[in-house]
Amino acid sequence: MMKNLFFALIATISLTCWGQTQVVAHRGYWKAPGSAQNSCRSLIKADSIHCWGTEFDVWMSRDGVVFVNHDATINGIEIQKAKASQVRTQRLPNGELIPTLEQLLQAAKGTTLQLVCELKPHDDKQQEARAVKKILKLFHKYGMEDRVTYITFSYPGLKMLIQQAPAGTEVYYLNGELTPRDLKALGAAGPDYHYSVFRHHSGWIELCHRLGLKTNAWTVNKAEEMQWCIDWGIDFITTNEPELLQQLLAQ
Ligand code: MG
Repeated sequence: MMKNLFFALIATISLTCWGQTQVVAHRGYWKAPGSAQNSCRSLIKADSIHCWGTEFDVWMSRDGVVFVNHDATINGIEIQKAKASQVRTQRLPNGELIPTLEQLLQAAKGTTLQLVCELKPHDDKQQEARAVKKILKLFHKYGMEDRVTYITFSYPGLKMLIQQAPAGTEVYYLNGELTPRDLKALGAAGPDYHYSVFRHHSGWIELCHRLGLKTNAWTVNKAEEMQWCIDWGIDFITTNEPELLQQLLAQ
């Protein structure tokens, strides 16, 4: 009883200090009719249900075009090793052509979404460095630098994004091995970790907030797990079930 009261108190303080948990559609709202993961339609659909943000993954072809796709390959073509002309003609399961980052940004122009851009770890780190420059340039070109959050599993990518993105840009690390203090020292905005990492280190949430960091948990699809994140004051939840999360947050 006392334990429950204690946790409720911590959760209330956390929410009072940090505001409501925000909804991030994982690879867009791809479960909507006619949608597909990482498609322009999934972005528009995430906007249509008023998600705070939409997440997507990016790879750069060997000749310097940034594409939006989760897997390293599309229809058997490995994006980082292929020429853009080979990749451009590939279709997603909903029939759309694979979007370039440029096309996705054009689609996002008319929305109010925050864009959670995941840099995928490239085999060739020089190519990854070129990808970082290209990505930053595209957000600048479209005047969307204030609408992007970067996330990555790549440690070199994390450092490059922190160093090279405009001041104030939030960059999160996905690979759960760094502590909040490590992230703070690097200049990251915080951990964007698998939900189970926060469950294992629940003290990290409050520590992050004390350090001025924010927390993002992925990929949280069950109501019970969402509620745990909400109760503990996680700032952002990345989910394949954005409408379920919105219902819980509305309660
Ligand atoms: Mg991703």
